[in-house]
Amino acid sequence: MSAEPQLIVNGKRTDGRGPTDLRPLKIDVGIIKNAAGSSYIEHGKNKIYAAVYGPKDSHRYGTSMEKAVIRCRYHMSPFSTDERKNPQPSRREIEISKVIRDALEPALLLENFPKTIIDVFIEVLQSDGGSRSASITAASVALADAGIPMRDLVQAVAVGKVNGTLVLDLNDIEDKEGEADMPVAFMLNENKITLLQMDGKMTVEEFKAGITMAMEAAKKIKEIQKEALQRKYAQAGEGSR
Ligand code: ADP
Repeated sequence: MSAEPQLIVNGKRTDGRGPTDLRPLKIDVGIIKNAAGSSYIEHGKNKIYAAVYGPKDSHRYGTSMEKAVIRCRYHMSPFSTDERKNPQPSRREIEISKVIRDALEPALLLENFPKTIIDVFIEVLQSDGGSRSASITAASVALADAGIPMRDLVQAVAVGKVNGTLVLDLNDIEDKEGEADMPVAFMLNENKITLLQMDGKMTVEEFKAGITMAMEAAKKIKEIQKEALQRKYAQAGEGSR
């Protein structure tokens, strides 16, 4: 049996963080002029663009008479991983596109736009574990920038278990070598979870503590999302004067 890799030494993780520390997080809004709404996120070493098109009228098969249909494409660029990734969409990317859409949809007032489509494109330029969570956080901001009315911003972060310790916001090696990885997305206003996935094993107590840890982090992420949106619209206001 191979020895378990030492990912926590003297209470410090591979990137120097303590167990409950978030990675540095930066969000910019409205950087893609041709999209209805856009954002760029750096969450640790993850670097991700999100761009929203729509709502646009649609008479295609699959269009709903009751509400807008949201489509989502999560894509990893070939240079986003340590070895060149095939640019074709993989099964993993198709699955992540679906879970991101499902995580965002409950927050959106799609009934305001019947017979339309809203497209969300997510491009991962660099990945370092937790890219689906960072993509949800970024896409929610891009949807707000596109003016899509919503119940709340959605933000996501993973919690997991590494060397028997509960940790927040796993990086790539922790994600791959740790005992558990659980991405969670929140709609905090409504006290709702819109995404919950789990890879690995945790006890019920660890699970409960993990959800609390992720929720506290989501509150911090939400503040950064709001500040990013406020910054863009404050600048736009100054420009129009
Ligand atoms: P997430 O990025 O949401 O944690 P996964 O748990 O599926 O998604 O993947 C964890 C990490 O593994 C990714 O962030 C990325 O750094 C790496 N990874 C994913 N797919 C590939 C790939 N095809 N080649 C190399 N590394 C990959």
